[in-house]
Amino acid sequence: QAEEWAKVRDLAAISRDGKQISLYMNAGLADDAAGIALAGADGIGLFRTEFQFLVSATLPRRERQQALYKTVLDAAGDKPVVFRTVDIGGDKAVPYLGGGEEDENPAMGWRALRLALGRDGLMKVQARALLEAAAGRTLAVMFPMVSEPWEFAEARALVEAQKDRLASLGRPVPSDIQYGAMIEVPALIEQLDLLLPMTDFVSIGTNDLTQFLFAADRANPRLADRYDWLSPAILRVIRRVVCAAALHDVPVTVCGEMGGRPLEALALMALGVERLSITPAGIGPIKAMVRGATLEPLFDAMQEWLAKPGVNIRAELSSAAKRQGL
Ligand code: PEP
Ligand code: MG
Repeated sequence: QAEEWAKVRDLAAISRDGKQISLYMNAGLADDAAGIALAGADGIGLFRTEFQFLVSATLPRRERQQALYKTVLDAAGDKPVVFRTVDIGGDKAVPYLGGGEEDENPAMGWRALRLALGRDGLMKVQARALLEAAAGRTLAVMFPMVSEPWEFAEARALVEAQKDRLASLGRPVPSDIQYGAMIEVPALIEQLDLLLPMTDFVSIGTNDLTQFLFAADRANPRLADRYDWLSPAILRVIRRVVCAAALHDVPVTVCGEMGGRPLEALALMALGVERLSITPAGIGPIKAMVRGATLEPLFDAMQEWLAKPGVNIRAELSSAAKRQGL
């Protein structure tokens, strides 16, 4: 199988019926960027900037942040990179920042964009590091755990203000800035019509979205088999996001672990998802699967399965995949 994946590495992920799927990789360390070509990825769809904070004993200074972002952009070359601003706090607490100690439910606590907007000095430094690293090129920046459209607006305004400040000092700035929101809090999905006009792209974080949708801790092994990524609840929610985004002409990526599993990835494509950002090791297998798949009949089948009660979508999709020789 490894040989089969190596063969498709440099080929596009195009299904038998001509649908092109973009496969990006998730990353977080400088070394990951060099793996883009190795994995056959179309770029980095999620760069988790908090990793640098988590492996550091003290707050990484702006120069260090900037150096990391520049290394990643240089390694990616022409391929796009989406930088997610720090998703720290909660279970990814960093001792030198403090703030989350009183959280009884860390996943739902003082984390991610909440923390970053609350400590806006941190966010300003990161914004400057990103803007300077991407001087003269495109910067794609994405905010984690957005729960309300105003949070996105505030974060975007903060980055824009830093850009204007740099420009007024005569410093080089990115040639273009694309702003995106992570869709991982159900409350935001109820307000997509308000959010989407402000965004250039969105990315569904199925790890957190599943945990919040099912009220099931993503890290608790006792709950791992209590919900299924192929259950109607999660698939219907994703369908809503895909449809709303299409209406507003906003590209959608799925960047949670769900997209790295072949059957789950197939389900996402059957819902109209055309961009996945996954663990680098998943790219070969998913690419091989896409190239062998005929997606059109799966769109209709998925609509039927979601419309009827009691359908075992995992079993149905699995047989459909087998019939296609996948
Ligand atoms: C997610 O929540 O699905 C996601 C991609 O982000 P993280 O796993 O870093 O929370
Ligand atoms: Mg998340």
